[in-house]
Amino acid sequence: MFDTVIIGGGPAGLSAALVLGRARRNVLLIDADRPRNKVTRYSHGFLSRDGISPSDFKAAAHHDISKYPSVTIKRTEVVHARKNDKHFAIVTMNKDVFEAKKIIIATGVKEILPNIKSLGRFYGKSIFNCVYCDGWEVRDKRLAILSSHLGTLQLVKLVYNWSKNLIVCTNGHHPIDQKTRQTLQLKGIEVIETIITELTGAGDQVEAVRFADGREEPIEAGFISPEWCHSGYIANGLGCKKMPQGGIMTDGMGRTNIQGVYAAGDSSIISPSQIAIAVGDGSRTAIGVNMDLTNEEFK
Ligand SMILES: Cc1cc2nc3c(=O)[nH]c(=O)nc-3n(C[C@H](O)[C@H](O)[C@H](O)COP(=O)(O)OP(=O)(O)OC[C@H]3O[C@@H](n4cnc5c(N)ncnc54)[C@H](O)[C@@H]3O)c2cc1C
Repeated sequence: MFDTVIIGGGPAGLSAALVLGRARRNVLLIDADRPRNKVTRYSHGFLSRDGISPSDFKAAAHHDISKYPSVTIKRTEVVHARKNDKHFAIVTMNKDVFEAKKIIIATGVKEILPNIKSLGRFYGKSIFNCVYCDGWEVRDKRLAILSSHLGTLQLVKLVYNWSKNLIVCTNGHHPIDQKTRQTLQLKGIEVIETIITELTGAGDQVEAVRFADGREEPIEAGFISPEWCHSGYIANGLGCKKMPQGGIMTDGMGRTNIQGVYAAGDSSIISPSQIAIAVGDGSRTAIGVNMDLTNEEFK
């Protein structure tokens, strides 16, 4: 019986494992190793690790955790978790079953990219989703905002802090009203509402947006605002309540509405989605778990 099984070994789950290992807890971390930031070369904005690659970050975290012998890491996928009386049974895709007193769900989110031809080739390399992660690297470059929903204007305002050389491509949609379009025009920002046929470029460096009317606009990079979806089957199966945006609802210490089930990182916070925030949340949740285990044991 493990004190805690952590499902998901991204920044949140790894941080929780470190804190619980240092608290002498017997921990199993199960990770499918499919982090969504794998597509990017460098991660930015995490103090002391600015510019580190996602794989180097993970290797450094595993190295830190390896100093604590009560933590075991397994690379596989959890397919199901259920509560048996007071404890939990966690089932992996290989049909292994592990028992735990507590579960931390740290499975992150997945993004749904807009349906634009060749976007996948450039995503994470020259088309980005987060200005705080990659805005500095593309400052003052000619950027495209590829966005078709109501949040488009907010994204434009934000990106304008990093570059004033912008075009907005709404891919046949009309998320910006006439008056706002004129305001943007005064700032030199053109809104192009024509359908996008594809992005073109060399290797993973985007170079142009091609439109259905044959027009082609040169760009050096771009931003999208993807939709995020939770692979929520573990939380749903356990009966965890969700927030309106889809994240797992928690109290200030990672506890969900199901006693013994905790959530950390993007799987509960979603926005802002940042490594520093996921690491902090993993730590806070681990402290919540250890506090609850301590209170249950110390009688
Ligand atoms: C393209 C891109 C670039 C980014 N760049 C930056 C940046 O520069 N700076 C920054 O601060 N943030 C950046 N982010 C955001 C950052 O990556 C996330 O905020 C952070 O990774 C969230 O950590 P997490 O541990 O909550 O989730 P994740 O990192 O998503 O980790 C979740 C882990 O759980 C595993 N998992 C999922 N389901 C299961 C299951 N059923 N069983 C076992 N394991 C499972 C996954 O395989 C994955 O390894 C970027 C994100 C993207 C998409």
